[in-house]
Amino acid sequence: MRIASHHQAGTAEHKLSGLLTGNVQYTPTCAWPDDCTVQWGHGIIPSTPFFEAFPTGTFIRGEGPTIADAEVKAFAQFESEFSCRHLWGRQRPGRSIYLNGAGWCRKCGAFRGKMFAEVVELGHWRKPVTVWEADFLHSLETDAEMNAHMDRKYPADSKARRKNARILRLRMNLFGALQ
Ligand SMILES: [Zn+2]
Repeated sequence: MRIASHHQAGTAEHKLSGLLTGNVQYTPTCAWPDDCTVQWGHGIIPSTPFFEAFPTGTFIRGEGPTIADAEVKAFAQFESEFSCRHLWGRQRPGRSIYLNGAGWCRKCGAFRGKMFAEVVELGHWRKPVTVWEADFLHSLETDAEMNAHMDRKYPADSKARRKNARILRLRMNLFGALQ
């Protein structure tokens, strides 16, 4: 397994997390795969001990009375996912149906962020921009500092942000803005 850098003494992340939340000493005990990153802590509100693992393509979180309990719970979930012949659907077990492409296994509850194509309502953009969207478009088109900051912070989203700006501009030109 790979221990998240904020748990490793000597790293900048460790120093920062020590200042923010206090470092929690813990040594994982389960047989996580080599390429699986893990992290743990006590949560903020409410202060629930948790253990999180990031096996390839997914994310597992366990909670419990102690971090050790949380890890055992997360590992049991990992093992049941690993041995499952998944049956994917858009419905989150016991919750609503997600249209953003996320999928859950109907048998073991495994989660994948990008299992399906996103469901998009046809013509959903054929309407005036809202006051909030007009503000946002203005920032996207004129605030170079904000754009540079967002690109640095979320480089993976920069293409989507530009596409969003083009769509908002088209809607504004074709359908106007709500007052
Ligand atoms: Zn499954």
